[in-house]
Amino acid sequence: KTDILFVRSFMILFLSCITIKLNLCFSSNPSSLKSLSVDGHFSFDDINHAAKDFGNRYHYFPLAVLHPKSVSDIATTIKHVWQMGPASELTVAARGHGHSLQGQAQTHRGIVINMESLHGPEMQVYAGKFPYVDVPGGELWIDVLHESLKYGLTPKSWTDYLHLSVGGTLSNAGISGQAFRHGPQISNVHQLEVVTGIGELVTCSEKQNADLFHSVLGGLGQFGIITRARLSLEPAPKMVKWIRVLYSDFSIFTGDQEHLISEENTFDYIEGFVIINRTGLLNNWRSSFNPQDPVQASQFKSDGRILFCLELAKYYNPEKTDAVNAEIESLLSELSYISSTLFLTETSYVEFLDRVHLSEVKLRSKGLWEVPHPWLNLLIPQSKIHNFAEEVFGNILKDTSNGPILIYPVNKSKWDNRTSVVLPEEDIFYLVAFLSSAVPSSTGTDGLGNILTQNRRILDFCEAAQLGVKQYLPHYTTQKEWHAHFGSRWEVFSQRKSSYDPFAILAPGQRIFQKSI
Ligand code: FAD
Repeated sequence: KTDILFVRSFMILFLSCITIKLNLCFSSNPSSLKSLSVDGHFSFDDINHAAKDFGNRYHYFPLAVLHPKSVSDIATTIKHVWQMGPASELTVAARGHGHSLQGQAQTHRGIVINMESLHGPEMQVYAGKFPYVDVPGGELWIDVLHESLKYGLTPKSWTDYLHLSVGGTLSNAGISGQAFRHGPQISNVHQLEVVTGIGELVTCSEKQNADLFHSVLGGLGQFGIITRARLSLEPAPKMVKWIRVLYSDFSIFTGDQEHLISEENTFDYIEGFVIINRTGLLNNWRSSFNPQDPVQASQFKSDGRILFCLELAKYYNPEKTDAVNAEIESLLSELSYISSTLFLTETSYVEFLDRVHLSEVKLRSKGLWEVPHPWLNLLIPQSKIHNFAEEVFGNILKDTSNGPILIYPVNKSKWDNRTSVVLPEEDIFYLVAFLSSAVPSSTGTDGLGNILTQNRRILDFCEAAQLGVKQYLPHYTTQKEWHAHFGSRWEVFSQRKSSYDPFAILAPGQRIFQKSI
């Protein structure tokens, strides 16, 4: 009897090994994909682009890139990979606009789905009492803006840069200066169409398949590919008053920021940034921002001090210019900035929202766009922002920064705690974004190595001081770190993974789950 059992076990093991070997062989063999019937096409040679992202530090080469023409192309491909079973090492990464920082939209020897190829059905705006727009998951926000404006409408919540895909930002959160009021972009979605990790096409919303809906929002691409999204709209303004004022005292700066985000009648956009070791302020500011009163502004010299700049915007239509001026004057009178540092400019709504694109064009022309970007984005509880600033701005980055450092508070009440995003515990938390660019092959303070060391020092400090900080656009390399990131929400996150992508096919570049072989 023991012998029979032994022989049977041996046979099972032998057969499993053959199946695994066959699957592995099959999975790295393009011919299995070539035989799939899709409306678009796979490319097997032209794959270099899919191994690059904005971070410019990680390069994983896929086996193939799918350029889908229809949603069913995406479903067919994922179903095919799913049917190969867990033993196949083939994975699938949706690529929106590839503006990830650490290979999150890449896959080693897997399939990249180029979401920008998916254009049908076209965007559709529904004007009415509660207007919305239906858009393909690979659509860029700049195009969503232009389409909505044809109807005098606009999405409510933005990112600072609009050449990002809808599916890409909804997989993270989508945070900008409107988030204090409207919440992040994921708080402004009515409905999603998603292809799950088993190749099923599912429509989900608050009312229909709600668990999938909340899983996917901020879900780092782990539960499904967003093929269509229904986004909330509001009437669009034509113009923007864009204001910057300076502070040398961090407490007064954050006090004013927190005051402004707590008010009903306030600005439409509230952000801020840190200015380290800069002189000749006017020359250093972005070209799209032209202060209207340069005489007053130029009287101010920073003398190398660290300064904090509050950045505000008020939307308006030209026929209401007098009213908006009065409102701004009243709002500014409540603030305690350095009085000689009021910078004001007027611009169109589109130019304001698309402002970072101007910097992109400038940087590209100087070859400074496609450099390594070791960015670090942190969410910091309100009660700890002073400890953080003291150490980070007063010590770690005392003398230099290698790019803009954004800092602004948002209200947690505008976030839905059923989504997958992980946030600090407190009602108000700050987004602090270190948007560094590294000078290629430099070994100095502007080199990649030095910036990564600085980032590490910041993270180590946050951990040692137990600030309760969470990473935004998180990046970790071990499951232990991911556990710590999710904390008590890890169990729900991994249960959702088992439900919607049980073989861990999707978004392997996030390095949260590994497909079992
Ligand atoms: P990709 O890099 O293509 O993908 C990101 C992740 O989402 C990957 O894991 C990918 O597999 C997954 N994914 C992509 N498409 C889909 C889909 N349709 N369905 C499911 N999963 C998908 N973020 C902010 O919140 N606020 C900002 O102000 C902001 N400014 C930025 C400015 C610049 C210049 C850059 C480069 C980034 C900025 N970001 C900002 C970060 C940005 O939101 C994220 O990096 C976002 O993921 C980029 O979108 P993408 O389309 O390029 O995504």
